[in-house]
Amino acid sequence: MTARKTAIITGSNSGIGLGTAHALAASGHDIVINSFTDRDEDHALAELIGKEHSVKAIYLKADMSKPDECRALVANTASTFGGVDILVNNAGIQHVAAVEEFPTEKWDAIIAINLTSAFHTVAAAIPLMKAAGWGRIVNIASAHGLRASPFKSAYVAAKHGIVGFTKTVALELAEEKITSNAICPGYVLTPLVETQITDQMKARDMDRETVIREIMLDKQPTKQFVTTEQIGALAAFLCTDNAAQINGTALSVDGGWTAE
Ligand code: NAD
Repeated sequence: MTARKTAIITGSNSGIGLGTAHALAASGHDIVINSFTDRDEDHALAELIGKEHSVKAIYLKADMSKPDECRALVANTASTFGGVDILVNNAGIQHVAAVEEFPTEKWDAIIAINLTSAFHTVAAAIPLMKAAGWGRIVNIASAHGLRASPFKSAYVAAKHGIVGFTKTVALELAEEKITSNAICPGYVLTPLVETQITDQMKARDMDRETVIREIMLDKQPTKQFVTTEQIGALAAFLCTDNAAQINGTALSVDGGWTAE
């Protein structure tokens, strides 16, 4: 049984981040829900999760494209809860375009949110984890951290980058009882993927079912979407004491995609 810890999950008012927040709260950890939006419903969501799992849960706004806000998220969590034990870097965005047409501002935003934000949150959290003598860093990478697809240059670059960053952090902290691992999901049916389905329907003049079958799940041998619950459950396991020797890995949850 792992003692009650404090967890930050970046980008957790939706999709995989929300699923992971539920799983960590269900494991008895206090949690910080984050996004850049700061709406009443974001605060209400944190309250709801806290009540549902009988843990402390708060919402903290931080735009993960901004280095100062990434570091402030960690500092504000520590001043509220007294530390940061678990850090899940999940916030992410996508843009699909050919390299020569890829808008520079989209490239910069994807690298900032999907990769650089983790550098800032991890750097800010390490002294707190070292002081506590325990820590868990879980980076939500992607099958695209291990494989490429056309038209996703920034995303693939960021996700390969975060897999490398995960390994480096693991080596630096290996003797500190702090682990650093990446989870590499295949397709998960979240708002991020819903947008891609709609775009592909228009671009290819296909109906929804055909896009899902022939474009989305073509690479996923099980022909099923991964669920947010499945990712959350793995993240929660990585945050147990039983996972202390799982370190510096990129764990695939992709229905067999990267087995090929
Ligand atoms: P989503 O759109 O449901 O969630 C993205 C989250 O990131 C939201 O909570 C959003 O508020 C937050 N976010 C976006 N920009 C932000 C910013 N500037 N500051 C703070 N928060 C911000 O998408 P998702 O599919 O749940 O994606 C979550 C992570 O999982 C991403 O890193 C994504 O790359 C990764 N992933 C998703 C899939 C998939 O198929 N859905 C597969 C592999 C990896």
